[in-house]
Amino acid sequence: MYKIVYYGDKRLVSDNEDVQEIDDGIRKIVKKMVRTMFKRNGIGLAAPQVGINKRIVVIDTSFGEDRDHILVLINPQITQKGQETVVMEEGCLSFPELYIPVERSRSISVKAVSLRGEELQFEATDYFARVIQHEVDHVNGVLMIDRVSPEKRIEVSGELAEIKKMAETV
Ligand code: ZN
Repeated sequence: MYKIVYYGDKRLVSDNEDVQEIDDGIRKIVKKMVRTMFKRNGIGLAAPQVGINKRIVVIDTSFGEDRDHILVLINPQITQKGQETVVMEEGCLSFPELYIPVERSRSISVKAVSLRGEELQFEATDYFARVIQHEVDHVNGVLMIDRVSPEKRIEVSGELAEIKKMAETV
């Protein structure tokens, strides 16, 4: 299992490289990421959150119901975002115990490569679209806190400072 990287750690905001070839090394990372996600009760996890600066995302598409619905997105991209947006509270394994309202598109188009190397292209809506947007943000070095108003950010600055302290001691 991997250790989760917390807010304040440079690896969360670093550049992430594309996966060029899906080899045993990548498959091993994915397997370990999935295990880490379930262990931490997450519904999505991006490689930079475990300190690996590669464009890899895993999502539990049952959203916590079972462990048989895992979506692996390699080099994911959101190619289109719908105009309609929804505000909903979000959490993140890299921000323990922090929940903040984030505005996201209700529907999106996604392009990625599967773990088998197949090209994926699909539409997602509602909660599924939200999870994907959150995770693709991670591989672009963008965090949920970057998506809220300056006022909200100030409101939670105490909690953010606490998490940062954890990042330094882990
Ligand atoms: Zn996150």
